[in-house]
Amino acid sequence: MKFAKLRLSGFKSFVEPTELLIREGLTGVVGPNGCGKSNLLEALRWVMGESSARSLRVAAGGSGMDDVIFAGTAKRPSRDLAEVRLMLDNRARRAPAEFNADEEIEVSRAIMRGEGSTYSLNGREVRLKDVQLLFADAATGAHSPALVSQGRVAAIINAKPQERRQLLEEAAGISGLNVRRREAELR
Ligand code: ATP
Ligand code: MG
Repeated sequence: MKFAKLRLSGFKSFVEPTELLIREGLTGVVGPNGCGKSNLLEALRWVMGESSARSLRVAAGGSGMDDVIFAGTAKRPSRDLAEVRLMLDNRARRAPAEFNADEEIEVSRAIMRGEGSTYSLNGREVRLKDVQLLFADAATGAHSPALVSQGRVAAIINAKPQERRQLLEEAAGISGLNVRRREAELR
């Protein structure tokens, strides 16, 4: 699965609807300090189901996730809704078999202030778990080792064996099996 397009609206500093085409090959994001480069990467993690306050730079606990919603500036009022949509290119059919009919898969996550997040896949509302399963198999999830943020390289080198094993499992694409096993055990 390849990232094809990212659309943001009301997410952090991206208050106006913004669309980014992610083309074949390496993509670089450049710009002055504070222009929103890290916010973009956070949007990508967020739409894939990230819930860690630290990796999204939001306040820990309760309504901390509301911090991803545009908070307003001296000139612009705050918003109550943030939405991120990610278009995936599935022409190589790397997504789980249930998506074999789809050349493109649209994953979206929205949050209303005070009401938490909702997720959808191809316009149909789904559970967080469904989004996580889609990405866990493809080894491209919110925690994917393919997304390396500032300071992460040193963290990987210094990781405990158990943590490093988890990274290797994700890179090898088998962590989806663990998610499925845990879900089966809970039934
Ligand atoms: P650097 O080069 O320093 O790493 P950057 O391009 O990664 O910078 P970001 O950290 O992505 O910049 O963006 C920071 C900006 O986003 C700040 O100006 C901050 O005020 C703004 N911002 C973050 N959250 C919100 C929010 N909820 N509402 C409005 N603006 C926000
Ligand atoms: Mg940054």
